[in-house]
Amino acid sequence: MTQAKKTTTKKLLVAAGIFIVIIGITIYLVTNKIKADQVESTPVITTDDIETVPASTLQSNPDSRAEVSVPILMYHHIRNYNDPNDTIGTNLSVPLENFDAQIKYLKDNGYSTVTFSDLLEFPTKKLAEKPVVITFDDGYSDAYANAYPELRTNNDVAVFYIISGFLGRADTITASQVKEMSDNGMEIGSHTIDHPDLTTLSATKMESELVQSKTAIEAIIGKSIISFCYPSGKNNSIVDAATKNAGYLTATTTVSGISTTSSDKFTLPRIRITPSDSLTTFANKLAGK
Ligand SMILES: [Zn+2]
Repeated sequence: MTQAKKTTTKKLLVAAGIFIVIIGITIYLVTNKIKADQVESTPVITTDDIETVPASTLQSNPDSRAEVSVPILMYHHIRNYNDPNDTIGTNLSVPLENFDAQIKYLKDNGYSTVTFSDLLEFPTKKLAEKPVVITFDDGYSDAYANAYPELRTNNDVAVFYIISGFLGRADTITASQVKEMSDNGMEIGSHTIDHPDLTTLSATKMESELVQSKTAIEAIIGKSIISFCYPSGKNNSIVDAATKNAGYLTATTTVSGISTTSSDKFTLPRIRITPSDSLTTFANKLAGK
């Protein structure tokens, strides 16, 4: 090989080397830009924002019972209210002294209040001996002002179903009150954006009611929402499936009955507590009589 040819070959090798380095840098930069774009397009709520159950609490304490009864109590207003011109409102209002007596009855008779999160851990984790779920529909101010302090005093928990579009109205709780209850162990569930009859909606509208209310309340509490309640107890197999697809793990109805750990999680029956229930009636309803 002549000196001239050697020089040319050397130059070509150097050029090829530079070319490879440039290609390498380009690939590196493009890859990182794509990653950066993906990060930027991540929704506001990330899995990091959502509290997860620590691995230590998932360790075994299995429940050996095949099936456990889990009565789910349904309340709306907790207030002293009796207006002959508002029979619906009156019938949805349980006086505070009745509610207090019912909470005391549960304690005196060995019941423990649990949430749907607890229920879903059965049988991996042991449920309370006599579990009961207390639910409040519609997110009324009086449930926060009257029932919530009573629950706190007694170290009880309950599930509050919130209508995301009705937060902060004259008679409903505020976003910060929802956050406070969640931070103090209450389970927050969704009850849609504006309480429609889901069975009458198009698939698209139904999905937005289910998904957007869930996302909005999750943004307030910083936790994943697993529980849903069908407005006015209106559901069917299409609504049930859409609820499941929206990411919920449980849904309650207004069908009267005692739920158990074997019940279908998207058609859970409940026990309606009315203003006229005496403590005896309450006890009988709880026992499925
Ligand atoms: Zn409702």
